Amino acid sequence: MPKILIVEDEEKLARFVELELVHEGYEVDKAFDGRSGLEKLEGGGYDLALLDIMLPGLNGLEVLRRARRTVDTPVIMLTARDSVMDKVTGLDMGAEDYMTKPFEIEELLARIRATLRKSERRAPDTKVLEAGQLRMDVDRHTVAYAGQEIELTQREFSLLETLLANKGIVLSRATLLERVWGYDYMGETNIVDVYVRYLRGKIDDAYDVKLIQTVRGVGYVIRD
Ligand code: CA
Repeated sequence: MPKILIVEDEEKLARFVELELVHEGYEVDKAFDGRSGLEKLEGGGYDLALLDIMLPGLNGLEVLRRARRTVDTPVIMLTARDSVMDKVTGLDMGAEDYMTKPFEIEELLARIRATLRKSERRAPDTKVLEAGQLRMDVDRHTVAYAGQEIELTQREFSLLETLLANKGIVLSRATLLERVWGYDYMGETNIVDVYVRYLRGKIDDAYDVKLIQTVRGVGYVIRD
């Protein structure tokens, strides 16, 4: 079932919405302030987020702005103010929809269904590759680990993309060389090892994980 994050500091309202969503069969997670909401959003794994604008710490618009650097979870903004400015700003920053409080729960449920349908249709074009907490958005050309953006060169990016697209499959150096550097590459074949080292430095070593693994005598594989 789709998983929905509610970021709302009015805990009674958050609980009420949670109960209704659970009743509809959704999985629900909650955050009561902007910072923890942002953390959860960046952690990924949500199909949709309900994001209140007036939040303590970090307001909803700021949460959305920062989250959009790494995740494209569909967001419905909740606003108590009937402020055109907030709605426009929210939509400009990539929110899918907004609801003005107080709202009828039935309307919210209908908009959630519509937003989820829209993002399902869109899903095939937004290519996202993942391994563990590593997430690559191919279209946006971004890579993040647990929501923290990682800077990669073009070559590192395409090597990582090839590994991720073949997650769990061991790729030989020759295969990687051909797919990432091309048939006509004339340099040293150990260039693959050099670039795998660069990637490990930025991912495995930086986050203390072992995603990119060496299979002795065969090649490399990325695993969850
Ligand atoms: Ca609020």
